[in-house]
Amino acid sequence: MALASPCLPRAGSPLVIVVHGGGASNISKDRRERVCQGVVRAATTGYCILKNGGSAVDAVEGAVVVLENDPEFNAGCGSVLNTIGDVEMDASIMDGKDLSAGAVSAVRCIANPIKLARLVMEKTSHCFLTAHGAARFAASMGIPQVSREHLVTERNLRHLEKEKKGQQKTDCEKNLGTVGAVALDSKGNVAYATSTGGTINKMIGRVGDTPCIGSGGYADNDIGAISTTGHGESILRVNLARLTLFYVEQGKTLEEAAKTALEYMKSKLSGLGGVILVNKKGDWVAKWTSTSMPWAAAKNGKLYCGIDLGDTRVTDLKVS
Ligand code: ASP
Repeated sequence: MALASPCLPRAGSPLVIVVHGGGASNISKDRRERVCQGVVRAATTGYCILKNGGSAVDAVEGAVVVLENDPEFNAGCGSVLNTIGDVEMDASIMDGKDLSAGAVSAVRCIANPIKLARLVMEKTSHCFLTAHGAARFAASMGIPQVSREHLVTERNLRHLEKEKKGQQKTDCEKNLGTVGAVALDSKGNVAYATSTGGTINKMIGRVGDTPCIGSGGYADNDIGAISTTGHGESILRVNLARLTLFYVEQGKTLEEAAKTALEYMKSKLSGLGGVILVNKKGDWVAKWTSTSMPWAAAKNGKLYCGIDLGDTRVTDLKVS
């Protein structure tokens, strides 16, 4: 009996992955290409995982790890700095198959908070571990510590300095750069993952929306999966992820739901942000109210990516 090649997609749901690199007020010319390459690399990695039979959870984790390891993004080794120049990171992940979820907040000195969030989901009876407890759990799981220097970039030191001098934009308009992914696997399961360094010059211990299930993301096979980015204090107050999926449950298309929820947050709180969504049918959308949002998506052998409104590039997906 011939065995199916592990590289061929199995019959079933279409394979889809969408990633974002955070809502942004503007992205300088010299960063645009690097940011674009970063989201494309993450989407391609996630798609390969799906194509090789990996689950939606495997794919979103894999894609987010690529972005956490890329200093262009505000997560992992590109995290923005808090008021004392330190890195405190938040992350969450959710499996739409059974609503299992894991989150960590205010974690320091590890390379990939999303991996720790997944371990919280799979190896504990809890959903959310923070700071000291999350660090102890990471050590017990054998996650190596990295130095502060590994996570602090020159660019973020300059941003913090500017912020302290009052030269940055308002909270709602900053170039934030959180990362996230949503995916649909061949078995029809959806998942999301979101990871961030938070906001520049934040207070020690500040936790934003990213690790909060229902704000930083949500996944339910019956509705879809979503990852959010933007002004955390606004996203938290409108529960942006669950609100968007509520509109989907009410019968709106993914596009309409994303638009309605983002407009609601903007009109109520002047909060800007962005979302990526996928559903069981393989429909997907990337939408934002911030000036721009780097994103990439892979489906049916095609790769889509963009940064600003109306600049979607479509190419053939090159995967081995
Ligand atoms: N939402 C994140 C936070 O407030 C920031 C971002 O999306 O860039 O922590």
